[in-house]
Amino acid sequence: MFNDNVIDRFQGLETPFYYYDLDLLRRTLAACSEAAGKYGFHVHYAMKANFDEQVLKAIQSYGFGADCVSGNEVLAALKYGFSKDKVVFAGVGKSDKEIIAALDADIFCFNVESVQELEVINDLAAARNKKARVAIRINPNVDAHTHHYITTGLDENKFGINTWQLNDVAEKLRSSASLEFVGIHFHVGSQITDMEVFRSLCVRINEIQTWFEDRGFTIKILNAGGGLGVNYHSPDQNNIADFDSYFKVFKDFLNVKPGQEVHFELGRVLVAQSSALISRVLYVKNGQRKNFLVLDAGMTELIRPMLYQAYHQIDNLSRTPENVTDAVKYDVVGPICESTDCFRKDVELPQSYRGDIIAVRTAGAYGQVMASGYNLRTPIQSVYSGE
Ligand SMILES: *Cc1c(COP(=O)(O)O)cnc(C)c1O
Repeated sequence: MFNDNVIDRFQGLETPFYYYDLDLLRRTLAACSEAAGKYGFHVHYAMKANFDEQVLKAIQSYGFGADCVSGNEVLAALKYGFSKDKVVFAGVGKSDKEIIAALDADIFCFNVESVQELEVINDLAAARNKKARVAIRINPNVDAHTHHYITTGLDENKFGINTWQLNDVAEKLRSSASLEFVGIHFHVGSQITDMEVFRSLCVRINEIQTWFEDRGFTIKILNAGGGLGVNYHSPDQNNIADFDSYFKVFKDFLNVKPGQEVHFELGRVLVAQSSALISRVLYVKNGQRKNFLVLDAGMTELIRPMLYQAYHQIDNLSRTPENVTDAVKYDVVGPICESTDCFRKDVELPQSYRGDIIAVRTAGAYGQVMASGYNLRTPIQSVYSGE
């Protein structure tokens, strides 16, 4: 990701910024597309992971659909050329205004997260003389074995409809003239690397599919959501995820009926590795027990370490790691006036100096999109290679 030319280019640029390696992004998209295509699976990109303009254009150009979680994401998907027939809209709290915008845009489907929401969408669609396509987001009670802050498929989470409410759902679907039921939807969490979780999910999807069919419903779409994780610990050796193994689990364990489509909503795994947060060392503070590297980027640029104790590899691009005999442990911190503004404690790095360029790796997903203006920080810029 960082050859000498790239690092030379960084020398002349103001920091911090997000650096996007669009070649790596394209290779990732091609790998995913090929692996899914083998089984005829459809992939929607979960736009909340990263909505940088160049990133969206690249993803759209590979034929992916868009999985949106707000009305503005729906509008952005359409603006960047995603076909309306490939736009889906999920979220526990869709406002009337957002639902109306999506109805007017004639998107493919709403992933509905409560019985009440079915009612609201039905009413709003009826008032517009439209039929809204809906998939039911069901909480399969599968433990994603991921960090509890990013697990979503358990009974205790706010997302989705629990299985004990399915009778109410079936009744509501039957009595709602402005809804067209198209399928069932699941999303059990994020940063999942254990394929066993997806196997369990397949088993639950098969059971729930049977439940609906036994009651006379036809299911056109099985949507398994997203959640496939990336390797934050060795971004250089594992820069493209093992899409083949992932899709093969669904090929092997999902009970797909003739004519059915299988949909996925991948976010993180498509974009995480192709971006890094680039920053400079402002100060090196040597304390009695601690050494601090104070960067010019902090939680306002990348909040994942502070929000969910996420690990990101940190590299000093100005020093060559091969000839490091002088490794020092630093607490790598940002400039923001919060004690939690620390990327990681005891990071082993070559002896570092003011002005060194630091890369916080695997920052393409849930990074730039969560940037904030706290402390009246300057909005962070993007820098690209491979345009
Ligand atoms: C966030 C989200 C995704 C994508 O999750 P990743 O872990 O980034 O793959 C997919 N579907 C829904 C409904 C989501 O909310």
